[in-house]
Amino acid sequence: MLSSTDRHRTRFPIRDEEVQALSGPYDEEPIGDPRSAVLGQAFAHGVATRARALLHLPTGVPAGSAVICIDVPTVTELAEELGVTTEAMLARVLVHEGSHVLRGHIDGGGVTHGYIREGDAQSDAWQLLTDLLATDEHASLARDARVAQVRLAARQPPAYRRFGAGAPDTGRWMEDAPSPNVWVVRPSRAVLVLAQYEIVEVPVLLSGRAGRPRTGDRVVLADREFAVGEWVVMATSPASHASHPRDVRTVARVESEVCPGGQPPQWLWLHLRRTREAVAAAAVPDSMLDMHDDLTAMSRTNAVDAWADADKQPLAEATAELVARAKADHARGIADVVETMKAAGVEVPPGLDGPRDPLRD
Ligand SMILES: [Zn+2]
Repeated sequence: MLSSTDRHRTRFPIRDEEVQALSGPYDEEPIGDPRSAVLGQAFAHGVATRARALLHLPTGVPAGSAVICIDVPTVTELAEELGVTTEAMLARVLVHEGSHVLRGHIDGGGVTHGYIREGDAQSDAWQLLTDLLATDEHASLARDARVAQVRLAARQPPAYRRFGAGAPDTGRWMEDAPSPNVWVVRPSRAVLVLAQYEIVEVPVLLSGRAGRPRTGDRVVLADREFAVGEWVVMATSPASHASHPRDVRTVARVESEVCPGGQPPQWLWLHLRRTREAVAAAAVPDSMLDMHDDLTAMSRTNAVDAWADADKQPLAEATAELVARAKADHARGIADVVETMKAAGVEVPPGLDGPRDPLRD
């Protein structure tokens, strides 16, 4: 329900006890005067509740149905103050309020939903906006909406500031709307194997010179055979969550090789989501592999340009090609073995040429 500021305020007067409930047991700073227009503006511009006669909603809205009411002039004004588009601000409000509806918070009838529930809605909004970074059609809106969420939280009561614990670079979204960097990363596992999954974890050796991939950045994974992209960095962490055995072994090997006795190498584990539009390049240009070792990331222009110019095909096609090639190699290998056995007069056991799954890692 879109409305004017006056109508919105009449429908949803802010009660003192509701405002006080937006501060947690460990928040010592004063929350501000609950009647202050500026404070109310910062969190009551969107309300998720149930339709009831008292709200004087337009006829046709059935009593008891979920409604999201938005004070449009305030949303527009806040967007301008925060340096984001009105669309981004609206997107942020809608995913936050949508969380209240889906989590069943709206039965209490209040304008706000208390410390814990507001925190949950903020976390849901942050997570959804992070997920949307991995889509081509919504990435830039999601990026702006994340900036809006971080900047707005600074002037909201404490309940609205607890989100993004899994994404330690929240502060970066405060300063400037970050434009995503593109990285070429060489993983320890085969790229087409990784491409079978929607979400993967990949370790990267940090070097001071190259900088580090951050949440929202785009990644192309490349090995000697294939490059697959793009992926979006959903989160980064100094330690592994998945501990894939191949990654763990490769990390240990690199650690034993890289300047033994010197400073231990630093790792960054990237949590990547494959974009829906991801494609594969079968002929990987040298400039994309021009790296010292596995597990390195680079954002050099020539590598990124090479990816942009590469001949790409749908992932499914590349996978089918790889499977066909592996089967042919396998059949050729088996034929050689069988021929050798026959020549030596050895009995060839049945089922020797069983199928092999080249995508198994
Ligand atoms: Zn809320």
